[in-house]
Amino acid sequence: MKTALYWEKEKDSIRCQLCPHLCLIADGKAGRCRERKNVDGTLYAMNYGVITSVGLDPIEKKPLYHFMPGSTVLSYGSRGCNLSCSFCQNYRISMEPNPPHIIMPPDEAIQKVKDENLSSIAFTYNEPTVWYEFVLETARLAKEHQIRTVCVTNGFINKEPLEELLGCMDAFNIDLKSYSDAFYRKICGGRLGPVLNAIKLIHGKAHIEITTLVVENENDDLEELEELFKWIASIDTGIALHLSRYFPSYKMTNPATKIETLIEAKRLAEKHLDNVYIGNVPGIR
Ligand code: SF4
Repeated sequence: MKTALYWEKEKDSIRCQLCPHLCLIADGKAGRCRERKNVDGTLYAMNYGVITSVGLDPIEKKPLYHFMPGSTVLSYGSRGCNLSCSFCQNYRISMEPNPPHIIMPPDEAIQKVKDENLSSIAFTYNEPTVWYEFVLETARLAKEHQIRTVCVTNGFINKEPLEELLGCMDAFNIDLKSYSDAFYRKICGGRLGPVLNAIKLIHGKAHIEITTLVVENENDDLEELEELFKWIASIDTGIALHLSRYFPSYKMTNPATKIETLIEAKRLAEKHLDNVYIGNVPGIR
């Protein structure tokens, strides 16, 4: 564990300022993400250096289709998340308390990229925002070694920490889970507004692509999806959008999204955006 960034004392507790939940954390307790804990009046990042997953991935798997295409990226994941999506596809590391892991300091994480003869690193699998101190240090070190950096995130992060991250992150894939604040609140335990703000802040400062997981009977209303497409287009029609197929996972038992829904959504999206892709459907892009 390591002393956390972005918090202040508030009476007998600590206010975490890393993400829009702004948890007020009493002594001995942790925030909603479970990875930032008040120990005797200091906030600690409990998952610093905790690695639950390491993988060599095609960059297109992140998914990023317009950043270093055809390359392989060394991907790292930790544990914890600041959202609680019912359909989480990685719940074993994002939601369960103590998944198997190794401890690895930032310099080792970078050395492994060099040993593999690769030139990029991704923070992914769980939510990088709640792994902030490790991600920031490792990304800064990556820059010193001319290694490109990728962050695959839900975008639920406050402005100041995101600005600091932008100083050392080359590319983002942001999950824009829906254009409905009610969906964010009910299904994900979050809010829409901060995610839109994060996208606006990143645009123009780093490469950005967006992923929307289309969940059968939840966020697959085509009129609502078109609002989301229009909003992205209002920022930049060139932002690549990945419409990803949902499969039942974690607490969500709805059937897998119909492929016809994804095809129709893509057709609608292409009225507004230049680069739209279907994901999670073999043979269709
Ligand atoms: S990062 Fe974690 S502790 Fe901090 S405000 Fe967000 S959920 Fe709460």
